[in-house]
Amino acid sequence: MAKLYYRYGTVGSAKTLNLLAVAHNYKQQDKRVLIMKPRLDTRFGYKTVRSRAGLNMEADVLLTENTVFSFDGQSRENSGANEIFIDKDITCIVVDEAQFLSAATVSRLYELTIYCNIPVLLYGLKTDFKGHLFPGSTRILELADSVEEIKTTCFYCNKKAIFNLKLLDGKPCFKGKTVDLGADEKYRPACKFCFEKFKKAALH
Ligand SMILES: [Zn+2]
Repeated sequence: MAKLYYRYGTVGSAKTLNLLAVAHNYKQQDKRVLIMKPRLDTRFGYKTVRSRAGLNMEADVLLTENTVFSFDGQSRENSGANEIFIDKDITCIVVDEAQFLSAATVSRLYELTIYCNIPVLLYGLKTDFKGHLFPGSTRILELADSVEEIKTTCFYCNKKAIFNLKLLDGKPCFKGKTVDLGADEKYRPACKFCFEKFKKAALH
């Protein structure tokens, strides 16, 4: 039976590179894979899924909280909904930046694993720069059959990174909105020791 997979990691853990490799492998075998991403994430252009390693592919579907899926030729006929038809011959669905999905969209992707028997692989951050779960990540953790961490090391030392440190004007920042795609900001992977050290320093 198809599963809902959650592959999470900090910034710079090559999540998107992993996603693109999975999509590439399916395509090489002439299998249909649907690449999805939240419409919210427009850093690299409307539909581009780009890895920091430089590779990119076009997303097939941009997800919003109004996205609903139809299958078996049945339309849900939700007025105002962004309806996506899911073909039976789709082998796999991969989703980038899944932390930005609404809880409802995560639930609808979960339903595809049950009613269409299509595996869904969700790639994304687990927590924001304050160290709290995103609403999307919370729902994914509730529903995923398989949860796997994509590991990377702290930018400042060699311990395992678990936080996303936000830099504003080059300095660690712990304030602001959870979803903040500002072009001037950068995020770095940080271990708990470095993260807490910066946090303590920022409070004084
Ligand atoms: Zn560190």
